[in-house]
Amino acid sequence: MNDTICSIATTLGVGAISIIRVSGNEALKIVSKIFSKNLVDVSTHTIHYGYIKNKEEIIDEVLVSVMLKPKTYTMEDVVEINCHGGIETTNKVLELLLLNGCRLAEPGEFTKRAFLNGRIDLMQAEAVSDLINSKTDKARKIAINGLRGNGSNLIKKLREDLINIISNIEVNIDYPEYEDIYEVTIKDIKEKVLTLKNSLTKIINEYEDAKIIQDGILTAIVGRPNVGKSSLLNRLLNEEKAIVTNIEGTTRDIVEGEILIDGIKINIIDTAGIRKTDDVVESIGVKKSLDIINKATLTLLLLDNSKELTKDDLELLEMTKDRTSIVVINKDDLESKLDLTKLKNRNIIYINTLSNDGIESLKNEIKKLFNLEKLDTSDYNYITNVRQIAKIKECLVNIEDIEKGLQENTPLDMLEIDLKTIWDTLGSIIGESYDEELLDNLFSKFCVGK
Ligand code: GDP
Repeated sequence: MNDTICSIATTLGVGAISIIRVSGNEALKIVSKIFSKNLVDVSTHTIHYGYIKNKEEIIDEVLVSVMLKPKTYTMEDVVEINCHGGIETTNKVLELLLLNGCRLAEPGEFTKRAFLNGRIDLMQAEAVSDLINSKTDKARKIAINGLRGNGSNLIKKLREDLINIISNIEVNIDYPEYEDIYEVTIKDIKEKVLTLKNSLTKIINEYEDAKIIQDGILTAIVGRPNVGKSSLLNRLLNEEKAIVTNIEGTTRDIVEGEILIDGIKINIIDTAGIRKTDDVVESIGVKKSLDIINKATLTLLLLDNSKELTKDDLELLEMTKDRTSIVVINKDDLESKLDLTKLKNRNIIYINTLSNDGIESLKNEIKKLFNLEKLDTSDYNYITNVRQIAKIKECLVNIEDIEKGLQENTPLDMLEIDLKTIWDTLGSIIGESYDEELLDNLFSKFCVGK
């Protein structure tokens, strides 16, 4: 952490401006070596116009922002060079910084320093990454709430409640002779543990909603060849993405596309016609299709209204019967030959992809299935990070142990150990305790320059 790091903070490409970020004790000194003005004694949060120079050669005309510690992203001295966008210029400036004493930052190293210097906690650091990677407005809302510390505050509050009961127990154990000390009862512990359990369970339940907001709903369109899968995909995507033909088995590759329903991403996959075949190319598609059904959160099983149900249709109906699925009956414009008795207890929507009839009803059915309207009015205070959720689940396992202990009259000091473990685990969510490996792994997923 003692060295001064630098990195290109913007995307390397042709653009109006590129920003190169420098952070560390030597930031001002190093940049001054290649800048036309000495920055060492300038005031904090000031912008300076000048030239980046390699000895006498002028490399670029730039604006340099100087931000002195501690009010900076990393809580170190930070200098940002705004140079002209363009690969050559940007790389040249970066190269000069490296030659003059900077080290190239690792991915996420600026944010790692912000964490290690105490400006943000680990949950907030992870929210930075989520914010950068958010793909919908709702995902962005969750991430910015995380960055503002809403999740961290919730965890801190739970820890605070826990430490109160732990310290009460400790006083009871250490000073049994004092009569004026409140004696913690088993009932007290039971109540506290139940409250904690409810709060943690709520986080886990909400995580399911949040996952949908963040990652979208992976939706597979399946059906035997020629039922209209590509036509439906095109209708949903409003573009000619998949090839539509009347020759069976033309959709051989899995086509992916995204639509938004109520701000939630629906990631659509149009699988190749599921049909047992000797055709080598097609069988690769078929194998992929079966995999996709297993992976998908939602399956749209397409049937052809104008044909009797085939063995393949029945097989697909069987395969999807216990999954979240909608049976979409296409070609509603043609006379029906379907045996509806085989579709009892299924969620059915009729469509006609030639005229677009029924597409809105299909979207509404998806909304209903995933309660998307409810998600719309939520406050976006979700915990969505897989690492954090895994820790919360760990706490719930410990709570079960405590509950068992309470039933079996386990001594207070034993219960206290479990409570402390929960306190520690909650602490590791916000980064009160961590190991280097965790940090390296976590920040390596960040982009360079962040
Ligand atoms: P896929 O093999 O399941 O992807 O099916 P396609 O989307 O390629 O469609 C197969 C054939 O059915 C094409 O000739 C489409 O024009 C036709 N088709 C698709 N949807 C409808 C529909 O709603 N009504 C009618 N009459 N024909 C349709």
